[in-house]
Amino acid sequence: MKIDTKCCQEGWKPKNGEPRVLPIYQSTTFKYDTSEDMGDLFDLKVPGYFYTRLANPTSGYVEQKISALEGGVGCMLTASGQSANLAAILNIAQAGDHIVSSSSIYGGTYNLIAVSIKKMGIETTFIPPDSDYDTICKAIRPNTRLIFGETLANPALTVLDIETFAKAAHDNNIPLVVDNTFPTPINCRPIEWGADIVTHATTKYMDGHGTIVGGAVVDSGNFDWTKGNYPELTEPDESYHGLVYTEAFGKAAFYNKCVTGVMRDLGISPSPFNSFLLNMGLETLHLRMERHNKNGLAVAQYLKNHPKIAWVKYPGLEDDPGYELAQKYMPNGQSGVVSFGVDGSKEDAIKIINNLKLITIVTHVATLTSCCLHPASATHRQLSDEALKACGVPPELIRLSIGIEDIDDIIADIDQAIAKI
Ligand code: PLP
Repeated sequence: MKIDTKCCQEGWKPKNGEPRVLPIYQSTTFKYDTSEDMGDLFDLKVPGYFYTRLANPTSGYVEQKISALEGGVGCMLTASGQSANLAAILNIAQAGDHIVSSSSIYGGTYNLIAVSIKKMGIETTFIPPDSDYDTICKAIRPNTRLIFGETLANPALTVLDIETFAKAAHDNNIPLVVDNTFPTPINCRPIEWGADIVTHATTKYMDGHGTIVGGAVVDSGNFDWTKGNYPELTEPDESYHGLVYTEAFGKAAFYNKCVTGVMRDLGISPSPFNSFLLNMGLETLHLRMERHNKNGLAVAQYLKNHPKIAWVKYPGLEDDPGYELAQKYMPNGQSGVVSFGVDGSKEDAIKIINNLKLITIVTHVATLTSCCLHPASATHRQLSDEALKACGVPPELIRLSIGIEDIDDIIADIDQAIAKI
């Protein structure tokens, strides 16, 4: 199946007489005839559902779909994008371990890694997103467990050189974990370039309608855990009857430990209803991304030529520093997120977004309706102008998330708002 067909057809495949649409199994638990049947499930001798914190059929079919879209051997849905990245890290890192991460990542993930995970005893070295092979290797220590980065970073829109990061990781027997939220598997499939684990905030384009908060962790099945130092996967797990994940599950060891260990203990599961909504979003992901890509580029080009705009950040623009990497990793399009700076003050930026009519002010990106945010007034409001510049979010920056409306209406709205300054 081609990827567009997978969006529509993967996951739930009804048998004779079953509902055509993925059913919502809104049930905490599942009934079995005998205690032995239940025991076999707990021993992982047979597949099946017993408690929705661990697995649920509605979520399970959506997991199959996302795994197929990314080209993995297994996918675990989570309650949020934050918990997806948390699960991916905690599955193979613990107190005393170390992580290498691109510094160009979503602020929430940065805080998760730099503050919360640090409190758990896991240290991180942040390196620039455009680090070369040697710089990446220099940051790796004997206790480094993984390298982390975002394919297309939120909000900086830098493009990760996945192949270089993967090579540095693999030469040191550690996996590369890539957050692929902004491109989605329609624009880029990081596993094809060497990523070992792919995460998502399904909250963004995958749902696309702004209805759910959710996340996903996809295991490529390609990393050989026995070659690295991963005793939690290659030695008996005393919290699971001495199970050795690499022996019991082979290529899907990471995925199975994530469910039976991290999900069991942290309980970061999505509701079946949210999984149902996510599935509806995924059914049109390929169509929506095509339009987001087209509209995003058109808005970037329009802003680039506007005399009142000082700069535009969009990796689809030929003079963008990320252009070449974007052409390599996401040649079909670079999503609908565009940031720009007005040739003026913070107040001018505020005036522009206050005058937008169709494009609404929300703390969100990557939904089908166009929206915008002035980070200096919202997510980064507590920072001084100097501090804003230092973290790459200058006071005049406006972030646009271009939706799938008619491009003429979108540009007319931006045009009339800019005309007011
Ligand atoms: N990863 C990226 C790239 C994001 O943009 C976000 C949220 O914006 C997250 C992770 C966190 O996702 P959530 O808000 O669903 O927890």
